[in-house]
Amino acid sequence: MRERMRKPKAIIVGGSIAGISCAKALILAGWDVVVIEKTRGPPTGNPTGAGIALHPLSQKIVKSWLHQPDLLHNITLPFTIDQNRAVDREKNICRVLARDENFNYLVAHWTDLHGLIYNTLPVEIVFWGHLYLTFCISHDKSTVNVKAKNLRTDEIIDVVGDLLVAADGSRSSVTVLGGVLLIFRKMRILKPYKASGRAYPELGNGVHAGLGPGTHTVLYELMYKRLNWIWYITQPEPELKEPFLNLIYDCDPLTQVCCDNVVFIGDAAHPITPHCARSTNMAIADAAVLGKCLEKLGEENLHSALEEYQSVRLPVTTKQVLHSRRVGQIKLGLPLPDRELFDPNTASPEDCEILKQRSLPFFDDVPATLE
Ligand SMILES: Cc1cc2nc3c(=O)[nH]c(=O)nc-3n(C[C@H](O)[C@H](O)[C@H](O)COP(=O)(O)OP(=O)(O)OC[C@H]3O[C@@H](n4cnc5c(N)ncnc54)[C@H](O)[C@@H]3O)c2cc1C
Repeated sequence: MRERMRKPKAIIVGGSIAGISCAKALILAGWDVVVIEKTRGPPTGNPTGAGIALHPLSQKIVKSWLHQPDLLHNITLPFTIDQNRAVDREKNICRVLARDENFNYLVAHWTDLHGLIYNTLPVEIVFWGHLYLTFCISHDKSTVNVKAKNLRTDEIIDVVGDLLVAADGSRSSVTVLGGVLLIFRKMRILKPYKASGRAYPELGNGVHAGLGPGTHTVLYELMYKRLNWIWYITQPEPELKEPFLNLIYDCDPLTQVCCDNVVFIGDAAHPITPHCARSTNMAIADAAVLGKCLEKLGEENLHSALEEYQSVRLPVTTKQVLHSRRVGQIKLGLPLPDRELFDPNTASPEDCEILKQRSLPFFDDVPATLE
């Protein structure tokens, strides 16, 4: 095998969960990495919403990245119940539609999860406050050159590497994906905590969705007595003026997530609605699979490694994006061409099965690459 004087280098655009997970996985695969992130510094105690539900596979992957795997439990609460109820406000009654008592998830606050992974990385690899601008690939496809702007000094920098990883979220500027689908409101409630505890005696144990006509809410507890409460509504895209309003994006699945020396991961590869709690789980799995493919095939087979990553992840993420969209449309009482409108007050138990997170395609699949 050819002796290399230097390690291969990846330039990762985006330092959120997908970007830092990728940095971790690629370092473990023997790569040098640089992360270009436009926000000014690592997130610290962001007070807004943002509960992240971690599937057992994500838990296993994140633990494998930590010096002390049990640290994951310090920032998470167990999620053992996944419950959907119909809420009839006029009659003031609730009816259980679907309930899964073996929901083996953990839930973390976004900032805590980000911090846990970020703190395992060498500090100098993340270029905070740098806006990605463009890239170009050399004629022989051996290198990729990325231009970024230092937002503090306006200086333009060039970073040269072997691979560009687009981890810059659902509105990736490495490519343009699009389409606003739904809108939801997410806020943190502190004062009604006790009252919520009475209305939801099992609050600390899982995720509780309340379905009404054309809308639904999701409520669950996070560490340090924080609550994540989300109210999903459908309406035209508004002017984004207040912090608790989040647009929800998805797009038709892409047919490829790699091209030459560029690969897409996380929301940049497959924006997904939040109804099946997948986006973070997908980002973590993408990063882990990419790391393993690069490690197995070596940088001299970069394009084969990217093809393998794509062949493992694309069939899974494609089905999950479409399923999540469908669940969102059902829960919001939106019309679908192949079924009746979902009415939570009259739906049969069979009709409600799709509401369970467990109904997601490939729910418990572990890619052979990660076994
Ligand atoms: C503050 C916050 C709260 C969230 N809350 C929830 C939640 O409650 N539940 C849930 O399921 N998901 C939530 N998410 C989304 C979830 O974390 C992501 O969907 C998932 O982890 C995949 O992340 P990602 O890294 O692919 O994309 P993102 O989290 O969207 O990250 C993209 C990153 O790229 C950076 N970026 C974009 N463009 C550029 C550029 N040109 N140059 C440099 N950097 C760029 C952004 O600043 C951002 O850090 C939240 C995300 C954030 C940031």
